[in-house]
Amino acid sequence: MKSGFVNIFGKPNAGKSTLLNALMGEKLAIVSPKVQTTRHRIKAILTGADYQVIFSDTPGIIEPRYRLHEKMMAAVKNSLEDADVALLVADIREDPAEADSTFSALNLRVPAIVVLNKADAVDAQATGSALDFFTGKNYATHVAVVSALRNTGLEALLASVVELLPEGSPFYEGDDLSDLPVKFFVGEIIREKIFHLYQDEIPYHAAVVVQEYREKETLTKIAADIILQRDTQKGIVLGEGGRKIRELGTRSRQEIEAFIGRKVFLELFVKVRPKWRDSDLQLKEYGY
Ligand code: GDP
Ligand code: MG
Repeated sequence: MKSGFVNIFGKPNAGKSTLLNALMGEKLAIVSPKVQTTRHRIKAILTGADYQVIFSDTPGIIEPRYRLHEKMMAAVKNSLEDADVALLVADIREDPAEADSTFSALNLRVPAIVVLNKADAVDAQATGSALDFFTGKNYATHVAVVSALRNTGLEALLASVVELLPEGSPFYEGDDLSDLPVKFFVGEIIREKIFHLYQDEIPYHAAVVVQEYREKETLTKIAADIILQRDTQKGIVLGEGGRKIRELGTRSRQEIEAFIGRKVFLELFVKVRPKWRDSDLQLKEYGY
């Protein structure tokens, strides 16, 4: 039996969340074309006949401009240091020299697999030269070419991961997909919809706190706060006559229902908390 922790690392938009979801066969991490969607470490547990892999999706690498970002950076370092294997994900279309300098600067002590993602978007020649570029780099124990979106190359990648894991018994029992409560994923689903529905700074300034999650006989009742920084943002989030927030509620509810397999009654409340990004206490309260 092999078991251990695998950290997924890479620039925002490289496709880390998509890869995690593809490996899991479930939508666990939220996926968005905008950067910085993933604020938390998500643990996903993949158990096979003779292995257990515990994946963590990390926030992208970003500037520590706000305290929130400092915490994200700390989370990145943290997770890299306690993993058994690192997946260094890069967009195969991007300049390999840039990824190379980031990956080598990490000075990883754990074995790493360079994952060249989005192979569906390039031709065989470009794939070959990217593969050649990374093969033999001292941080790259293996190089895998995948398309997280089209589900290609994932079996070979998983085989390489398992090969590098230490021998050991499973850390988690049963068939749980994650060690995070359903409540967490509900918050993430709402946050993803905010990313899709609103522009500019709104998604980056919004936090979602699930205040109530109660299983009733015929449905699950959920109440969530959307925390914003400014009053002006409140109007935008609500929309004319509340139309926008109703749309957010409908889209979120549909996906939550699909995720938990039950009917959902969802209530959203918009609250303004100036400077929540800078306040340590409030960051803690909101789970960062
Ligand atoms: P993250 O920031 O690294 O977690 O990236 P995401 O998983 O959120 O993906 C960022 C964007 O890249 C999304 O629009 C994805 O649909 C897209 N994407 C992810 N994987 C692939 C892939 O294999 N092929 C293509 N063409 N697009 C991908
Ligand atoms: Mg992500």
